[in-house]
Amino acid sequence: MKIAANLLALKKEIPSKVTLVAVSKTKPNEAIQEAYDSGHRVFGENKVQEMVQKHDQLPKDIEWHMIGHLQRNKVKYMASFVSLIHGVDTEKLLVEVNKQAHKHNRIIDCLLQIHIAEETTKFGFDPAALEDIMDKQHEFPCVRIRGVMGMATFTQDEKQIQREFRYLKSLFFKYFDSSEEAILSIGMSGDYPIAIAEGSTMIRVGSLIFGARE
Ligand SMILES: *Cc1c(COP(=O)(O)O)cnc(C)c1O
Repeated sequence: MKIAANLLALKKEIPSKVTLVAVSKTKPNEAIQEAYDSGHRVFGENKVQEMVQKHDQLPKDIEWHMIGHLQRNKVKYMASFVSLIHGVDTEKLLVEVNKQAHKHNRIIDCLLQIHIAEETTKFGFDPAALEDIMDKQHEFPCVRIRGVMGMATFTQDEKQIQREFRYLKSLFFKYFDSSEEAILSIGMSGDYPIAIAEGSTMIRVGSLIFGARE
């Protein structure tokens, strides 16, 4: 496998202040271990059960990011260790994350997923709902809202992708300062160069590192 080489090439290409989440969903532990052995520590999964299993079996200093659509009844399984939840897309989910974080006596970092794509299938808040949540942040003391996450439309039209990322960036700057703490999670294998040009602080890249998924 060329995972270590792929990672190295990608890291050379992206600014050092952009965090790379290596999206390891569906990939075996050996693949993650290879990336780990090359020095990488931040991995993204989209299924809770799979992430819990991998967390159990792999080195404990891995930072696990939940990047997928999350069901409320699954939050409890990862609340003890998840390091960032990218896909918080309803207030009810935020309530549950807060509750589970409290049980585990910790504060869980979250991103609010914003709907930016033209496809109706992609999850996320609209601007009004975002405003509403940001006004109520104090109701969730065990959650720290670190920023926003979005997925652009699946298209070859780079102008459209850029437009969607720009729109999310404008919402990001409305609610989050440009401190190093704030996170704008945009960019995947197919569109990360556009995302970085638009100010991404965190990219989520899978197939470019680990190869295509089945
Ligand atoms: C799978 C996935 C990615 C990574 O996709 P690639 O195209 O393989 O880089 C990024 N973000 C989310 C939310 C995903 O589900």
